Amino acid sequence: MDMRKRFIVEPGTRVRLSGIDPGDTPGFADKCEAEETLARNIQRLAKLQYRLHAEGRRAVLVILQAMDAGGKDGTIRHVMSGLNPQGCRVTSFKAPSAEELAHDFLWRIHAAVPAKGEIGIFNRSHYEDVLVVRVKSLVPRAVWSRRYDEINAFERILAAGDVTVLKFFLHISSDEQKRRLEERLDDKTKNWKISPSDVTERARWGEYMRAYEAALSKCSTDAAPWFVIPSNRKWFRNLAVSQIIVETLKSMAPKFPKPSFDVSKLKIV
Ligand code: AMP
Ligand code: MG
Repeated sequence: MDMRKRFIVEPGTRVRLSGIDPGDTPGFADKCEAEETLARNIQRLAKLQYRLHAEGRRAVLVILQAMDAGGKDGTIRHVMSGLNPQGCRVTSFKAPSAEELAHDFLWRIHAAVPAKGEIGIFNRSHYEDVLVVRVKSLVPRAVWSRRYDEINAFERILAAGDVTVLKFFLHISSDEQKRRLEERLDDKTKNWKISPSDVTERARWGEYMRAYEAALSKCSTDAAPWFVIPSNRKWFRNLAVSQIIVETLKSMAPKFPKPSFDVSKLKIV
């Protein structure tokens, strides 16, 4: 199955998240089969990263967005486990600092964009500025509502600069989030992951879904498409995300650069 085609938000279409089943696992009946494919994808990703790094002319930016406990950390841990840390950069975006707030919302984002040859991963991103910021009215409507266009313009600049942008929304159900948050409360080794804000934000689930729908609908573009990944099953989420990254890198076909000198004339003494 072409996972890119299956899960892409076609530019210009309106997303209705209630119509997308977060428990779906198309093409895969069980975890065993999926884990084999995931292991293979991780190896393929390592080889493609090696080429991308050697080529040194283009970058890939993977953006992960989800509700709390949606699986952003887990996706990074599993899918990126085969990457060479040299050539890979993960950035987690928290509530902006005073210095960051003194600049435009894309300032801190642009600074973290991967350089040529690198794979960059964003754990949250500039989309928070039209998600939590919109839901909690942290800026006036007039400000957040123009950000969709600003984001599209920014991502167009990245794409034109040879950064391939892939955006994943890890779609879980409200029940699944409840289960995961309860686990964070029950399991002492997971207590550190839960915060009181997870509970207050959960109460605004519907508003968040509307904000996500707007971001997915307005900001899925040819330059930087959104993918909605059914993510109640962690094994399927990992598989789908890895598959889409591998397919994209494969189609980029990074090439080893030609040496700028005659290799046959070089003798190692
Ligand atoms: P976590 O991902 O659990 O470490 O939490 C990071 C927190 O930072 C989340 O509650 C986000 O909503 C919040 N956050 C990230 N970016 C922004 C932003 N631009 N404005 C306000 N809050 C943000
Ligand atoms: Mg959190």
